Amino acid sequence: MIDIQTFMLALGVGNIAFALLMAGYMRGADNSPALGWWMWGRLSIGLAQLCWWVAPQFEPGLVEALSACVWLAGVALEVGANCLFFGFRRWRQSLYLFTLPGWVAIGYAVATGASRLQLTELISFIIALFVFGAAVVLLRPRKAPLLQRLIGINNILFALAIWTWLGLEGGNPGTTVSPVKDVAYLASYLLMIVNGFGFLLLCKQKDDALMRSLATVDSLTGMLNRRAFFERADSARLLALRLRKPITLLMLDIDHFKQLNDGYGHACGDRALQAFADTARGVLREHDVIGRLGGEEFALVLPGTALEGALEAAERLRIAVAEAPVLDCAPGYRMTVSIGVVTIGVGEELTAALARADHALYAAKTGGRNRVELGAPMLRRA
Ligand code: GH3
Ligand code: MG
Ligand code: MG
Repeated sequence: MIDIQTFMLALGVGNIAFALLMAGYMRGADNSPALGWWMWGRLSIGLAQLCWWVAPQFEPGLVEALSACVWLAGVALEVGANCLFFGFRRWRQSLYLFTLPGWVAIGYAVATGASRLQLTELISFIIALFVFGAAVVLLRPRKAPLLQRLIGINNILFALAIWTWLGLEGGNPGTTVSPVKDVAYLASYLLMIVNGFGFLLLCKQKDDALMRSLATVDSLTGMLNRRAFFERADSARLLALRLRKPITLLMLDIDHFKQLNDGYGHACGDRALQAFADTARGVLREHDVIGRLGGEEFALVLPGTALEGALEAAERLRIAVAEAPVLDCAPGYRMTVSIGVVTIGVGEELTAALARADHALYAAKTGGRNRVELGAPMLRRA
């Protein structure tokens, strides 16, 4: 049988160690506020558990009450960290709504002379409520990541273990024997470990996804940036080569964009780029790869599409851009786009195909703009 004193010491030291590790991790880094809340939550819970551990050395009542209140505050901070992490709005009110009655209940229990064991049960019951609430939040999204599901399931196991233990005691503290109580202890220990590492890993997962997006997506248009476009387009090229499927490449450049910038301002130019991106997305198929190469120049790869289809797609896009509504910020500017089209040859490097498409684009510009031009075929090596 596990004795509660030693158990509280182990939990307290574990939680404080987590909090210190977290403080070290956050130092000097630009972390999300959720991590800060979580760190303070862990620290409070750890300190509360150490208070519980030393409480028998003092007059019964006061230290236990302090510990229970700090413990509850720590759990509330952790719930707050989860709310921040998931981007909930108006969660603070609900948190107060649950925390305040918890404190009142603890105060009442102490004032009416509740025993140490009764207080332990009360705080366990309240914590299980919070943990169960967090589980509902974690498990609600249908496509929640595996890590999130594991934390949610662990939360439910904890709440069930605690409530089973309390149910069996039926208001007579200290009457339950092992193994029910030991299972509840074990669930609490798992809660500390799984929730501790789990929340850190969830934050890391989210940060990684953000970093990936920052590294690959052009922030203005939401299209792939130059580097990511080359990567994605080259993978598409290699796949088409392996499957012996055609693949075509388009280079696009918005016409007279400088006039727009000079006449209506850079901000309006930015809006025009976004409008162009929206129009292009509306016309393209899901597996077409489009990227912003820089400024008002874009490239598009159409896997599985032969030259004829690519010319049709280019024409569709050209017309869609020309027919798009005039921008509010630039009433005198009608956007058009010039496009060069080539087939990526078998064994041809992407950069070589891009150079040919660029030539075709130049021909479209010199030919009067708002046009689609077919590029010269790939030169065969002798
Ligand atoms: P052409 O029809 O021959 O393509 O003429 P153009 O004016 O479109 O071509 P040019 O390359 O001379 O002008 C491109 C302009 O695009 C110049 C540059 O200031 C502007 N530009 C590049 N990047 C951005 C951007 O992110 N936002 C805005 N607003 N303008 C940009
Ligand atoms: Mg241009
Ligand atoms: Mg240009």
